[in-house]
Amino acid sequence: MADSTTNQPSRTRDLDKLLLRPGNLVAPIFDPGAQLRDDIGEYARILVVGAGGLGCELLKDLALSGFKNLEVIDMDRIEVTNLNRQFLFRLEDVGKPKAEVAAKRVMERVSGVNIVPHFCRIEDKEIEFYNDFSIIVLGLDSIEARSYINAVACSFLEYDSNDNPIEETVKPMVDGGTEGFKGHARIIMPGSTPCFECTIWLFPPQVKFPLCTLAETPRTPAHCIEYAHLIKWDEVHSGKSFDPDEPEHMKWVYTEAVKRAELFGIQGVTYSLTQGVVKNIIPAIASTNAIVSAACALETLKLVSGCSKTLSNYLTYNGVEGLHVKVTEFVRDKDCLVCGPGVLVELDTTVTLQKFIDILEEHPTLLLSKASVTHRGKNLYMQAPPVLEEMTRSNLKLPLFELMGKVSKDVVHVTGSTTKNDQKTSCLRKLRIAFKGVDGMTDTDMAGGA
Ligand SMILES: [Zn+2]
Repeated sequence: MADSTTNQPSRTRDLDKLLLRPGNLVAPIFDPGAQLRDDIGEYARILVVGAGGLGCELLKDLALSGFKNLEVIDMDRIEVTNLNRQFLFRLEDVGKPKAEVAAKRVMERVSGVNIVPHFCRIEDKEIEFYNDFSIIVLGLDSIEARSYINAVACSFLEYDSNDNPIEETVKPMVDGGTEGFKGHARIIMPGSTPCFECTIWLFPPQVKFPLCTLAETPRTPAHCIEYAHLIKWDEVHSGKSFDPDEPEHMKWVYTEAVKRAELFGIQGVTYSLTQGVVKNIIPAIASTNAIVSAACALETLKLVSGCSKTLSNYLTYNGVEGLHVKVTEFVRDKDCLVCGPGVLVELDTTVTLQKFIDILEEHPTLLLSKASVTHRGKNLYMQAPPVLEEMTRSNLKLPLFELMGKVSKDVVHVTGSTTKNDQKTSCLRKLRIAFKGVDGMTDTDMAGGA
């Protein structure tokens, strides 16, 4: 790792075995040679999402695999409890942003690599930020964050008039995940392999308690903690949002949870349990992170270079008893509303948001009532909760064209309820909105619609 120049043979020796020689199991794009190796360093831009246990490993692995243009995004600061496995961090780094320290440490050790850190929430970045990268690699521990990045990457995907994905708009993702001694690595090619949403059933539902249980009939220490965290906090601190990384906030929740537990005769509320419940902490094992990260980095290299066929398409690792690795080929959900083409709705530029919602209700294939509408992650109108409804109500009388930033066409996401087999079910729909008579709209854009 201590090479002074990047192209010393010792540094690239192993990489050269993959990139300089022809092979039988290579992808059609593979063109072996030193040029390929240099191009990977020069042109491939990789975003690593998350600078935690997996993220640290990913940055190191990718840097050592010849990638030189890396960026990393993470909103967290380093905590003492991270130090056992997030090996890029030291005691003196506690309190500093993970993304910044991780980038600095890898750059110190691997010469020639440039890593740009982003210390912010993934939602804080413009959608277009994510479009700049060749591949997005995810080292996350939350389903919500994965779901968000997945929706963003799939939003770049465009379909041709035959509903085939247009290759240049495919934004590949490599997703790693670990939980204790288990982990997975997967490849998502929006439009051809299943996206995160196509296989959302792979993830067990996160433990969430019904609010009525928390409010009226708590039975466990976790119920008391969530009561203090989700209900009591808002009652007492009107408007001030809870910050799980703020020790004072955590202490307040703990104290309230203890009071609650005493009231109902429940034992077992501790400060560490409070942290565990509130932050949804999943046990982390360094070796699992290392193995899953290695698989992800290799897949990233394969995607960029074509030096081997990629994983098809979901690898699971289980180290609980012995070691078990398996690859499963999942199939796309043809009706997926995130990675599919979406239903086309043509509108006049004067149509208000309210009128649009009415149109959805009468639309022959949608029959969508009580619609809430979001555009590129922004809530245009929300039916619930009441506070969001009130905040977005004034948008109803505005033209959708204006609310969507006067673009000729774009995708909106709509949630609501629809009738299926005489039964009302809630649903999420991706709709392609096209405004009539606006520049930039061509016949091809309009073809293949609903
Ligand atoms: Zn999908």
